[in-house]
Parts: sequence; C-alpha cells; structure tokens
Amino acid sequence: MMPFITAFFLTRNGTDRPKVVPDAVKNFAFIGQFAESTRDCIFTTEYSVRTGMEAVYQLLKIERGVPEVFGSIYDVRELIKSTVFLRDREKLTIPFFAKRWVEKTMIGRLLEEYGLI
Ligand SMILES: Cc1cc2nc3c(=O)[nH]c(=O)nc-3n(C[C@H](O)[C@H](O)[C@H](O)COP(=O)(O)OP(=O)(O)OC[C@H]3O[C@@H](n4cnc5c(N)ncnc54)[C@H](O)[C@@H]3O)c2cc1C
Repeated sequence: MMPFITAFFLTRNGTDRPKVVPDAVKNFAFIGQFAESTRDCIFTTEYSVRTGMEAVYQLLKIERGVPEVFGSIYDVRELIKSTVFLRDREKLTIPFFAKRWVEKTMIGRLLEEYGLI
C-alpha cells in the first residue's frame, strides 16, 4: 500500500498536475488525485469526487458550485486536535510560570478543552 501513498504526497507546485479542465479545453477533463483542484488537499475520496463534479459542471456549463472545502487549516481547534494525535495523545507539560497565562487566555482554554494540556 505504501508506494501508492508516497505518490500522493510528492510535492506539487500548482502547475505540475493538470487542471481539472485545462484552459481552452472543451471536451475532456482530468479527474482524481493527480488533477489540480486548488482549494483542496488530496488523499481523500472527497477530492476525487470533487474533481469529477468540477469537470462535469465546467464542461456542461452547469451553474452549481461544488461543495465547499472545510477550511480546517485555518481553524486553530483543528490544528490543536491534529497536534494531540501527532503526539499520540501525550499531553504537553506547561512550565509553572506559564500556567497562569494558559488559564487566562482563549488559546489556553482551547488547549485544555481539546486535550493538549
Ligand atoms: C493506503 C491508502 C489509504 C487511504 N485511506 C483513505 C481514507 O482513509 N480516506 C480517504 O478519503 N481516502 C483514503 N485514501 C485515498 C483514496 O483511496 C483515493 O484518493 C481514492 O480511492 C481515489 O479514487 P479515484 O477513483 O480517483 O482513483 P482510484 O481509486 O485509484 O481508481 C482509479 C482506477 O483506474 C484504474 N486504472 C488506472 N489506469 C487505468 C487504465 N489505463 N485503464 C483502465 N483503468 C485504469 C485503476 O485500476 C483504478 O481502479 C487512501 C489511499 C491509500 C492508498
């Protein structure tokens, strides 16, 4: 299984994979993990489905938006949750001098709520 995953995670720069519907193309599209859909992150079945929807809507000029990508990369709660899993749920040790800061701030409360401290 691993080689297939490795291929997914090769770096990309936005131009090395074809756009779902390349410029000026009228009758074909690229779908799946190796087509470029700018807003999303690959390695999900949703990505493949989204590229299919984009292809059909664009080529057939259907006035429908594809489902929005959840903006988790901008959500600090998601980042904290990811950190918790990356650390195998091992909590961070907060130095005693920082404890008061942690208790008093919104970030501190989120760290506590999502189990990082
Ligand atoms: C180990 C692993 C774990 C994963 N876990 C998850 C997960 O938990 N959640 C998640 O959302 N996604 C996960 N993914 C990703 C997800 O499986 C893929 O993104 C998704 O299956 C891609 O779907 P697809 O239809 O675009 O392509 P594929 O499922 O790759 O389908 C492409 C098909 O085209 C066929 N094909 C290729 N070349 C030709 C040809 N020349 N002629 C005819 N047929 C051809 C292939 O045999 C294949 O059946 C995982 C992937 C891997 C490898």
